[in-house]
Amino acid sequence: MPGPGILSDGWFREESSMWPGQAQGLKVEKVLYDQPTEFQHLTVFESDPKGPWGTVMTLDGAIQLTDYDEFVYHEMLANLSLTCHHKPERVLVIGGGDGGVVREVLRHKSEKEGVVQSVELVDIDGAVIDQSKQHFPQIACGLANPCVTATVGDGAAFVHNAPDNVYDVVIIDTTDPEGPASELFGAEFYKNVRRILRPGGIVCNQGESIWLHRPLIEKMMSFLKKDIGFTTVKYAMIYTPTYPCGSIGTLVCAKSVDTDLTVPRRPVESLGFADELKYYSSDMHRAAFVLPRFAAYLNE
Ligand code: SAM
Repeated sequence: MPGPGILSDGWFREESSMWPGQAQGLKVEKVLYDQPTEFQHLTVFESDPKGPWGTVMTLDGAIQLTDYDEFVYHEMLANLSLTCHHKPERVLVIGGGDGGVVREVLRHKSEKEGVVQSVELVDIDGAVIDQSKQHFPQIACGLANPCVTATVGDGAAFVHNAPDNVYDVVIIDTTDPEGPASELFGAEFYKNVRRILRPGGIVCNQGESIWLHRPLIEKMMSFLKKDIGFTTVKYAMIYTPTYPCGSIGTLVCAKSVDTDLTVPRRPVESLGFADELKYYSSDMHRAAFVLPRFAAYLNE
């Protein structure tokens, strides 16, 4: 039985109750992996070679990444957070089992200051890590770095059990709230995230789309500020063609009052790898926090 969205006419169609009445389609050249895991249905397929998208990963029928545009979201999550921290030595990634965020975080290890010392990744699904290593080696490459530890486990339980004040940056790269990531969009989880951040710490997440999920974004911004106590909470917009509506975002939160999230403290242009990036720059950083008029109130 083919996984969700894999149709008998040779196309993948991304339908979901989280974006009702719309669907994005990709032509399937070859299905490379299509199995239920303990937590979700994982599919990897090669798209039409006449198109640009290359190999595609979906979970429960929702596109997670494609070869062609994966760099957008991964560069933004890693650099929006790390460049605003004065010395991000210890980084935690929740989710992100494909390795894309880790690959980008590791650029901050090889910069001239060599600032990142360790990266811990916690993904609930070992099959995502395994299949990414097999079908997306250019994305999973960082997982083999000796300063990276990859653990298979629930991110909510991990942060619940982690000691206070240990991480400089936490990056939450999860699936959507319907499914195994549901708790990772709740206040209890973020209470622990704030607790395990050192003073000056920064967290950012997979913050969904202003076109589809503004009620969720509003609710999260409200509890992150009022109930959890982050001093600054801002939404940054990220243009990604293969996420629903071509747009995703990230909620970026600071633990300390002296952190400005909208302007990089350590501009990437001074770090020695800016030319390797394809989307993120200091200009893109500042621009990401400028929202269209209908959503501008989120950052006011
Ligand atoms: N940026 C992608 C997107 O939004 O389409 C997300 C990519 S990444 C593959 C998402 C990862 O979150 C998956 O590997 C999934 O297994 C992981 N995940 C979901 N729930 C989780 C949980 N409770 N704890 C840790 N990882 C979780």
